[in-house]
Amino acid sequence: MVDKKILSCDVCGKSFDSTNALEKHMELAHKDTRMAKSIGKQKTSSFIHSKKLIIAVIIGVLIAFSAGLGVYYTMGINSNPQNSLTIGGIECNSMEQLQYHIHAHLDVYVNGHQIYIPPQIGIIDDKCIYWLHTHDSTGIIHIESPIKKDYTLGQFFQVWRSKLGNSSSFEEVLGGKQVPTVYVNGTKVPNNMNYKDVKLKAHDEIALVYGTPPKSIPSNYSFPEGL
Ligand SMILES: [Zn+2]
Ligand SMILES: [Zn+2]
Repeated sequence: MVDKKILSCDVCGKSFDSTNALEKHMELAHKDTRMAKSIGKQKTSSFIHSKKLIIAVIIGVLIAFSAGLGVYYTMGINSNPQNSLTIGGIECNSMEQLQYHIHAHLDVYVNGHQIYIPPQIGIIDDKCIYWLHTHDSTGIIHIESPIKKDYTLGQFFQVWRSKLGNSSSFEEVLGGKQVPTVYVNGTKVPNNMNYKDVKLKAHDEIALVYGTPPKSIPSNYSFPEGL
């Protein structure tokens, strides 16, 4: 006995004994349904496809997001060099800040001898310039800041001490132990005042004296025109 192959219509469930008969039935009875079914299949596949697309998009977004985070993180470092370079509240900016621009002059004496004040204190070549800096070795301190407020000798020394491009730091020069006698425009600053708290005012002549004082204490400095 040979089993007759029973084919049933998957739309209405009717049975047929040959593929031909089934196809004929489909053609006659379910032409539209069939089309709809095949469209439905397409829909399903496009749904699966779009599901994949959504996953791909999510992955893409995640990648973009983490890449963005990376960029943000690096930018955070690059665009705010002042955050990592700031010394004692003094920022290092890529441009000189001329909104508040004054100059003071510093003389440092150790046992009567004048100490060399290096140029370029607070200037990192090709990178940035601190609000407190020197350009030359005249002892002129440039205060160039976007914020008009009092800056101190201590802040300038902090920048100087950090060395940056300079070979000799303030502490090295002075041994870092002695406390100087400080004169501002020839007037001695009270002993109870920390010399680091001396404010840098326009055209002040500041003299730091270590050990034996020099023959005379300067009371002013002739600033070049324009400074
Ligand atoms: Zn200046
Ligand atoms: Zn300058």
